[in-house]
Amino acid sequence: MVCGSDYTITVSNEPANIVLGKGESLIGEKCYRVLRQSKSPCVDCPLQDTINSGTIIPLVKYDDRFSEYFEERCFPILAGEDTIESFILYAKNITKSRELEEKSSQMKKLSALGQISSGVAHDFNNVLTVVLGRVQLMKKLSSDPYMLKSLDMIEKSALDGASKVRKIQEFSRPNTKTLNESISLKEIIEEVLEITRPKWDVASKIRGILIEPVIDLKDNLFILGDSSDLRNAFTNIIFNAVDAMPNGGVLSIKTQRSDNYVTADFKDTGTGMTEETIERIFDPFFTTKGVLGTGLGMSEVYGIIKRHNGKITVQSEVGAGTSIKLRFPAVKQRVDIVTESGFDLTGTFSIYIVDDEEYILETLKDFLADMGHRVQINTDPNDAIDDISKQAYDIVITDLGMPGISGLELAEKVKAIRPLTQVILISGWALNLKASDIKNRVDFVINKPFSFEKINYTLSEIEEKLLALRKNPAE
Ligand code: ADP
Ligand code: MG
Repeated sequence: MVCGSDYTITVSNEPANIVLGKGESLIGEKCYRVLRQSKSPCVDCPLQDTINSGTIIPLVKYDDRFSEYFEERCFPILAGEDTIESFILYAKNITKSRELEEKSSQMKKLSALGQISSGVAHDFNNVLTVVLGRVQLMKKLSSDPYMLKSLDMIEKSALDGASKVRKIQEFSRPNTKTLNESISLKEIIEEVLEITRPKWDVASKIRGILIEPVIDLKDNLFILGDSSDLRNAFTNIIFNAVDAMPNGGVLSIKTQRSDNYVTADFKDTGTGMTEETIERIFDPFFTTKGVLGTGLGMSEVYGIIKRHNGKITVQSEVGAGTSIKLRFPAVKQRVDIVTESGFDLTGTFSIYIVDDEEYILETLKDFLADMGHRVQINTDPNDAIDDISKQAYDIVITDLGMPGISGLELAEKVKAIRPLTQVILISGWALNLKASDIKNRVDFVINKPFSFEKINYTLSEIEEKLLALRKNPAE
């Protein structure tokens, strides 16, 4: 469009007529009315800026009428030095290119993050292994119900941490995890409320504000999923709701069944969000909390809900609060979960453990010795091979990544000296192992951080295997 200095349109082309004038010519109209539906010239009219700076400054505007983004450029045609005679207005729909750009920058961010984190994830797995191990040992030693409950919670949180680390490791991989747990929405939300209580109950009381939970959870609503992922998602949503209510308020959580779906609605009476925030809420790293926020909460929630074949919608109004609605496909009843527990060991083994992390060694040793096994440990893989060549062990447990010689090489050497010794490979990297790496040298692989249940299960598998070998030694 071309406009005169009084903002009256003197020329409008066909696309302008179609988009802005319902097909009618725009000549004689004011540009601010046509573009912004406003009664007076726009406060952010770029004309004056353009003259002052001597460059054309494009302006990106979101147009509610079309729900699309437009990039506007304004070219002044000057009569004298500072007098505008007329100007050309040019607008381009950039919704598509903007989406593409956002997507690709988002992907770049994610892949960079994935690379950085995989190293961190590995180390973090070691840390969690010790935490989990110690907690499990303490659970065996304690009979105080309060202590046991607290230990259970630490254990659950450490496992959640572990699954978060795994998620980081899986960042750049397509998701292949199977959803095989049938989860009671009521039970899991109650658990999350308990885990998050320090944040919404204790902390708010300390600050002298009241956050009132209004909880309405139906029995017998089941979904298929991964409980630690879901706990994570619900925790993120609740934390955000509490953050949004710095002066207190009501946190309501309601679950319902509708047709073949179950829904969970998390509502708060907090600050609410602007349109722009709602739009970016799932972007990784988008936060309005400055250094206090990571901006990773809701992007994680989004991924988790999507993996659960669910849907998430956000409704919010500034000053009125926010509602996060989740919808999942329902499963009819609880399907029995296949667990790894319930395997009692009758026999005991002689076990040699090699890991360059001393804490992990000690923790594993304490646990296994407590079960009655005879345990030898070593942080040096070469020393370990010497020992094993002098004396036979039923089982060798080795870490994968160690300085000097890798767990796979060690496994190969052990098998060469003692073909019957069962080798368990424990690794924080195991996600990347190929079957051919393991073949003929490693009998079992356990990912870090592991639970003692998993170790026990593996030992019972070994016992079965050894019994079978004893019966049919030819194998
Ligand atoms: P973080 O909490 O670290 O900022 P999130 O991804 O969890 O990151 O959330 C991103 C942003 O979305 C928050 O910074 C906040 O602005 C907004 N948000 C999320 N949930 C709510 C809510 N319940 N009420 C108000 N704003 C919210
Ligand atoms: Mg958050």
